Amino acid sequence: MAQFRNSFLLRHDRLLRIRDDFIKEAQAGLRGEKSSCLMMPSMMDVLPNGEETGVFFAVDIGGTNYRVILVSLSETKGEVARFEMEDFAIPEEYFSCHATRLFDLLADSLVTFAKRHGFTGSKTAPVGFCFSFPVKQTAVDAGTMIKLTKKFDNEGLVGCDPVQMLQQAIQRFKSPFKVVALLNDSVGTLAGGSYEDSNCKIGVILGTGTNACYAEQTAKIRTLPKDSRFRAQMVVNTEWGNFWAPTLPITQVDRELDETTPNAGEYHFEKMVSGMYMGEAARRIILRLAEDAQLFGASVPDELRVPWALSTPSLAKIAQDGSWLLSGTAQVLADSLHLPAAHCTFSACSAVKEVCVMVSRRSAAIVAACLAGLLRHIGRDDSGGPMQPTTIAIDGGLFEHYTAYRGFLREYLDQLLGPEVSAMVELKRIRDASSMGSAYLAAAVTSSA
Ligand code: ADP
Repeated sequence: MAQFRNSFLLRHDRLLRIRDDFIKEAQAGLRGEKSSCLMMPSMMDVLPNGEETGVFFAVDIGGTNYRVILVSLSETKGEVARFEMEDFAIPEEYFSCHATRLFDLLADSLVTFAKRHGFTGSKTAPVGFCFSFPVKQTAVDAGTMIKLTKKFDNEGLVGCDPVQMLQQAIQRFKSPFKVVALLNDSVGTLAGGSYEDSNCKIGVILGTGTNACYAEQTAKIRTLPKDSRFRAQMVVNTEWGNFWAPTLPITQVDRELDETTPNAGEYHFEKMVSGMYMGEAARRIILRLAEDAQLFGASVPDELRVPWALSTPSLAKIAQDGSWLLSGTAQVLADSLHLPAAHCTFSACSAVKEVCVMVSRRSAAIVAACLAGLLRHIGRDDSGGPMQPTTIAIDGGLFEHYTAYRGFLREYLDQLLGPEVSAMVELKRIRDASSMGSAYLAAAVTSSA
């Protein structure tokens, strides 16, 4: 346990070095040099400010579900007069069908949804398209899908322009929608945040995966096409999930976990941080403790050997367990790992809880280090002058549902920024941020055209 404590509970000076390494990687990426952070320009050089008016739609796809929404933005700044939303599960066959059918499904749902909510006009309705996959963005409303991720294995997806595909599908339904903005969930989160709050400069996803984007001075982005004309600020997608630096505390447990993933050798930061992996990292440590320190007695329960058996929500329950004699932890171990009660002594439960807290703290600490890096990079700490109030919009199940994690993140930010500067940084949870942000961006793009 002492060995794990040593490598998972990171000292302040280590976090400062991670912060500085993140800044170096980010700046190299912006210059187009080799970097673990791609720092992709989103081409989005406008963000919503609450003054947009009209009716806008959004289509949001990126995981196992997709969503369509309608918002009506009133003349009163920041007021959403009407909001309708519908979620759909993606039917299994659509993960492997030809891409055309997948986009037909999205278009069909959008058209049916709009009709159901009384939108039958022939006037063009702007749509924001949140497409949370690796895309090389070539314009606000155009991009190229780079690679398949998650469960998607559709022919015709890689290399396609998602906007064109959705627009063509919409035309097959002879509907007056126009896809005006293409974005991912982190950009949507930033847009959702900046609609409500002009101090919002960073958007973060902490869910199954993790990513961050922020408002950058366009002049600093050297990877934009020559002679391109943009406004002074543009949203940059860091793809920080792939961040790597020698200071990142990658342990043997992380290396072994990485080897079992389809993208081994990549996305180390995401694998140390996000909801998809935290439970599995904890399971591997608990297994090591069972093998090397007889945590559950002389024999190692077979159930502990099942990969991915401990989910991050279960890890969160254990880490937040305040029950008498940790009976809550024993219950989670019984429910998710099928460990018999006899094995779950108080001392075993204490050790398991300590592991879950350690894994969570490490995640929060390195996210805080990178956030401190981003804040410093955009001049939103006190290193270059007085601190200005700054909001970081955050969406994703890890941040939303794991209360103690939010506390850890705040604690490490306080440590890294100092309490006075940190007090001027608001971590704002934005619900349904990617879909709302997509509609707001559709509005911002339309009104700035
Ligand atoms: P996605 O990132 O897949 O689009 P979400 O933002 O809803 O979707 O995030 C889901 C992820 O959030 C889950 O994979 C899980 O790891 C994490 N999560 C969900 N609930 C909890 C919880 N109670 N505690 C900790 N993590 C959670």
